[in-house]
Amino acid sequence: MNMHLHSLTVNELFIPGCSQWDVELLEELFCERDVKQILSISLSNSCCDDVRVWHFDKKGRYLVKSGYRLAINLTGNSRPMGNQHWSNLWSLNIPPKVQHFVWRICRDCLPTRDNLTRRHIQVEICCVICRNHIENCWHLFVDCQFAQECMTAIGVDSYVKEWARTAESFEELMVKCLAHKDKGPISKFVMMLWSIWRQMNEILWNNAKKSLVGTVRIAECVLKEWLKFKCRNEAESATTIDRNMVQWTKPSNTWMKCNVDAAICCKKNATGIGMIIRDDVGVFVVARTFWVQGIYEVREAEALGVREALSWIRSLRLSKVVIETDAKYVVDGLLSSVMGDSEFDTILYECRKLLQGEPDLSVGFVRRGGNKVAHRLAKESFSFDSPFVWSDPPPCIVKLILDDVSY
Ligand SMILES: [Zn+2]
Repeated sequence: MNMHLHSLTVNELFIPGCSQWDVELLEELFCERDVKQILSISLSNSCCDDVRVWHFDKKGRYLVKSGYRLAINLTGNSRPMGNQHWSNLWSLNIPPKVQHFVWRICRDCLPTRDNLTRRHIQVEICCVICRNHIENCWHLFVDCQFAQECMTAIGVDSYVKEWARTAESFEELMVKCLAHKDKGPISKFVMMLWSIWRQMNEILWNNAKKSLVGTVRIAECVLKEWLKFKCRNEAESATTIDRNMVQWTKPSNTWMKCNVDAAICCKKNATGIGMIIRDDVGVFVVARTFWVQGIYEVREAEALGVREALSWIRSLRLSKVVIETDAKYVVDGLLSSVMGDSEFDTILYECRKLLQGEPDLSVGFVRRGGNKVAHRLAKESFSFDSPFVWSDPPPCIVKLILDDVSY
């Protein structure tokens, strides 16, 4: 580490007199990785007091829950089930109640008789279905004669044998199952686990008779019904999206509209902002693009765009301007009375200050379809000098502007 660093304060890493990192100085003092990290911290325009911020929470506040999660991640989870296995489970096309059931199996919190006994609850220990063995997950779903017949009936018995062959616990078997490349057998298998569990409860609580045909049929029917329901839902939401295909709309009479958007460029390690002002008939007034070094978090980048649009409009002495962003959380955050301590909240705070005493300035949300020109400008910002003000529209957005007014 450079000896300089011991006596240096953070503000000495800024360009004097403005809130920008001194990139040259950073490069001199830190390694490339650290420079990247530092540049991704957005700097506040206002002089606010220093506060401690818990970076692992959206609001910047420490919660035991997020501390616990971090500790688990840092120490590495000792259980065989990794993130990839969980995401394989959540992506299975099966009813959520069955996903939840599998999650309980993998977390070993299914109330099998063995588990209940271990938690000092007085119950019989033998399998409700065959009455021959201790009832635990391995027996109930793998070893029990009934389970084997069920798996054979739906044609997954050879898969189960293969997964069980090298597994030492049922959780390990599930790990192998969820890592399997073909999702068809996995879905069938876990549906059957759920149905066997259901059958066991029917026998235990409702004196039902053991039924192989019934158990298989319920597993198959519930899955089929679910797939049908999902298909219908997806078809409906597809038509809703069609209906809501949003286009840019002109502002009210005598008002102007400023659309703003942010983009990230990993290659250039930079965050770009594009904004465009149009009048009440959709005619181009002026546009601005700029980029800053460092990759900001998306929500910070979007909030930065809105803040810069606000201060730009004020410096142009324009009034009656509505600013539109496609980042709903920025608009919601501006309306919210709850303030956090994160960098995102600091930018929102600055936006609120810029809006104060400006009744003819407002910020609203528009879906992406209505923000295409700003989106394009943000993406193109990296190819121009930073900052750049356009008094004529740059060629890359001419067609998009025409499209916006042709509806
Ligand atoms: Zn049994």
